[in-house]
Amino acid sequence: TSTTRTELDAQTLWRQDRDHFIHPFTDYSTFHEQGCDLITDSDGIYVQDAHGNRFIDGIAGLWCVNVGHGRAEIGQAMADQATRMAYFSTFNNLSNAPAAELAAKLSELAPAHLNHVFYSCGGSAANDATIRLVHYYFNRLGKPNKKRIISRNNAYHGTTYMAATLTGIASNNWEFDTLEHLVTHLSEANCYRRPEGMSEAEYCDHLVAEFEATVERIGADNIAAFIAEPIMGAGGVLVAPEGYHARMQAVCRANDILFIADEVVTGFGRLGHFFASEKVFDTQPDIINCAKGLSSGYAPLGATLISDELFEVLGTPQGKGGVLSTGFTYSGHPVSCAAALKNIEIIEREGICKNVREVGPYLEERLKTLSHHATVGDVRGSHFMMCLENVADKATKELLPVEARVGDRVAFEAQQRGLIIRPVGHLNIVSPPLIWTRDTIDRVVDILDEAFGAAT
Ligand code: PLP
Repeated sequence: TSTTRTELDAQTLWRQDRDHFIHPFTDYSTFHEQGCDLITDSDGIYVQDAHGNRFIDGIAGLWCVNVGHGRAEIGQAMADQATRMAYFSTFNNLSNAPAAELAAKLSELAPAHLNHVFYSCGGSAANDATIRLVHYYFNRLGKPNKKRIISRNNAYHGTTYMAATLTGIASNNWEFDTLEHLVTHLSEANCYRRPEGMSEAEYCDHLVAEFEATVERIGADNIAAFIAEPIMGAGGVLVAPEGYHARMQAVCRANDILFIADEVVTGFGRLGHFFASEKVFDTQPDIINCAKGLSSGYAPLGATLISDELFEVLGTPQGKGGVLSTGFTYSGHPVSCAAALKNIEIIEREGICKNVREVGPYLEERLKTLSHHATVGDVRGSHFMMCLENVADKATKELLPVEARVGDRVAFEAQQRGLIIRPVGHLNIVSPPLIWTRDTIDRVVDILDEAFGAAT
């Protein structure tokens, strides 16, 4: 079996990896010694390493394997497409069946006015392509000064140059350059760390007022768009105060600023709906970006969903006889689109969004029972997008020193007990496949209870 073969080769692979693979987001103070953990197999809610250790996957790969691992029918759909027609261009007037079918399906699932799809290979590329299209849109409307994008501190939008600039997590850009002239960051909406004495409603007013003041300062004529994750993910699973997104959208509408929802994580069921913008947050974005759960990670794919109103401008011929000169060799890749179509079929057939709506509140409730641990200052999130924040002092919310590596220690202890969760600094993130049941959640919370006990 593949497990046995990998077991025999584990040492060689470990060395090849350490010597040649530049890992993304990896701590090089320890990597050279520790090397990698090779994950070789997966099935349902589990993954397995090269030594045969089995873990419950508490992070859906990387917030993406929404339908769970080992779905043979997705593999089969990809194999069928790859053997029939693995790749051909979608430039000019060429297309392929899965790309066309998926575009129609996404238009059906998205809010009613979003009926046009631009494909890319992942979330960063989707955000990057979006900003390029937004700039082009305003250029074509004769508003070339509308260039600045408003993002937020602690946002995560990816690591291509533009997406990294949109990202507001300072440590992500340490000693990297960014395109600062194109982006302004507002405060993030962090209810746990909001100013002392402010109610959530007042905090919302405060954040909206900051946006209005920023528009006033920079000038609406210089601002193209506002981009936000419905719930901030990598920046700490921050749920904004009630009504925040709708009010931010109202500021956009009043100032001819486009509203872009980055649903790379929140899309495809994580909050109980295919898209959270309209159903959960009462917003009608001009653009929704998605990736990850779109194909449940079985193949790389990103998509930018664009409104009829924008497409009316993007889809008209250029005065100079030019073409819409943007796109990738792999825009609308047939094998990725075939994976996405089968993935969506599974989500619909198995009622996966409904499972999240039913079981999600139980996950929230059970994780909150971990608050009795000394370091657990906040348990937050929604449905299958959750986070535990570790602190030194619950009253003052003071953080533990970075060297304490509290998130790492908790994640390590959980892994020793058969559960993978994600450490991000002092945070521990739980973003599982959307097929977890109440029984799985009970097992997970038992493991986490022991892990926090051992680590803190
Ligand atoms: N946007 C959000 C909200 C994300 O969480 C991520 C990745 O985690 C991205 C964009 C970037 O996606 P990718 O890593 O596929 O480029």
